[in-house]
Amino acid sequence: MASLSPKPLSSPLPPIVCAEREHLWDLYIQAVRDIVSLLDYEMKAMTGGASLDRVDLALELARSTKNKNKQAYLLHIQEHGC
Ligand SMILES: [Zn+2]
Repeated sequence: MASLSPKPLSSPLPPIVCAEREHLWDLYIQAVRDIVSLLDYEMKAMTGGASLDRVDLALELARSTKNKNKQAYLLHIQEHGC
């Protein structure tokens, strides 16, 4: 019976985690969640007959924030090389 050899312990140090990158990723994920929440709200409002006046504006702002956060994240990776 062949067994896989254990992973070589070539690097005793844990992988370097960039705190700024993680922070920017969290912001991006939060913005995506905001959009999902708003779409969920819109769907419920549509079936419930509630007013949708402010949903479109809120979605527009949420999409803008999401795009901004995505750009900031990608730019950081590019500039920082992390
Ligand atoms: Zn970084």
